[in-house]
Amino acid sequence: MQINRGKAEELDGRDPLGDFRDEFVLRPGLIYLDGNSLGPMHASVRERMRACIEDEWANDLIASWNTAGWYDMPLRLGARIAPLIGAGANDVVVTDSTSINLFKVLAAAIRLNPGRKIIVSERSNFPTDLYMVEGLSAFAGQGHELRLVDTPEDVTQAIDESVAVVMLTHVNYRTGRVHDMADITKRAHQSGALVVWDLAHSTGALPVDLAGADADFAVGCTYKYLNGGPGAPAFVYVAPRLQTIAEQPLSGWFGHSQPFAFDPSFEPAETIHRFLTGTPPVLSMTALEPALAIWDRVDIAAVRVKSVQLCEYFIALVEEECAGFGLELASPRDSARRGSQVSFRHENAYAVMQALISRDVVGDFRAPDIMRFGFAPLYIRFVDVFDAVATLSGILRSEAWRDDRFQVRSAVT
Ligand SMILES: *Cc1c(COP(=O)(O)O)cnc(C)c1O
Repeated sequence: MQINRGKAEELDGRDPLGDFRDEFVLRPGLIYLDGNSLGPMHASVRERMRACIEDEWANDLIASWNTAGWYDMPLRLGARIAPLIGAGANDVVVTDSTSINLFKVLAAAIRLNPGRKIIVSERSNFPTDLYMVEGLSAFAGQGHELRLVDTPEDVTQAIDESVAVVMLTHVNYRTGRVHDMADITKRAHQSGALVVWDLAHSTGALPVDLAGADADFAVGCTYKYLNGGPGAPAFVYVAPRLQTIAEQPLSGWFGHSQPFAFDPSFEPAETIHRFLTGTPPVLSMTALEPALAIWDRVDIAAVRVKSVQLCEYFIALVEEECAGFGLELASPRDSARRGSQVSFRHENAYAVMQALISRDVVGDFRAPDIMRFGFAPLYIRFVDVFDAVATLSGILRSEAWRDDRFQVRSAVT
């Protein structure tokens, strides 16, 4: 197998995104295929955080809300994300977590569609998305119900005149399967339903065109392909046509038209600001900003081209080098229908992944039987793909995964 490593080196040699890797902190020897779960740290974050803590917080204290631009962070950071998702600069804010933002946009959507009680989604959606619908339905007390489809192809058939909202994750977290955003949004609108897109596994991984698809609402994560850091705040998109009429229930003072008027009654901002709730997490946003700044210099279309190449190379190598060891591709084979990850099923997926991690090839496990490998084109090289498959092949051949220490489950898998 070693002879063919030259091909990977050659691909890296002519990779237009190759130089970005050096901007991230990745310890030598580590092959990090889990940036779809938690992206690595951009090297400038250390210095930026130090300045924020020492100068802005310790020294300037409250003045920094104005002088260091803290107050504007939710919209300023949102404007940096906007071009990656086909949104206008004033149509995205960074705030709260994806789960909380889902609550806000779902609540706004059901209020815009009174009388309809069905929320369509997929059984294989990321569980928090479904849990938030359950919580909201119970809280709203108006008899809203989830209608879950079992295969992605069934979504459009499930949309009829009873449907208030279609809530989907654009790229499935387990399989990486991509929905046709424009087509589903169009069909939902034809039936009078609103659409909420979760872009957790899309943003920074492939181009998204929310405005082009005429999407109503979207939410997404910044700690995955956007490398914002653990627990980095999420974002919300609201179509411009809905910003003055969509009402979200977490009506905190940052969503008020004049937060510093200290008016005793709530008057929502006439802008995307109405989707804010309370004081922004300045330290987390400070870590996120340099990670977003890199996108000024990166073309998301080039990211997609390399992502497809990396994933195709990985699938081809695994099928060549690991044939006969019980691996089954769980992601679509057609790259047009696949995000920036590749998943394989295996009877002993958990133990095999633990053995890989012990050898510094980091992917993750998703119950019950999936090994998930994320390929973030800003810092993953073709040689990483090659070396990862060589390691996987070695583990399967030697059955090293049978070791007792690889069978123990941690809280976070
Ligand atoms: C990662 C992810 C989330 C995470 O939600 P948090 O509120 O940040 O924990 C939500 N939805 C999807 C589809 C995800 O992939």
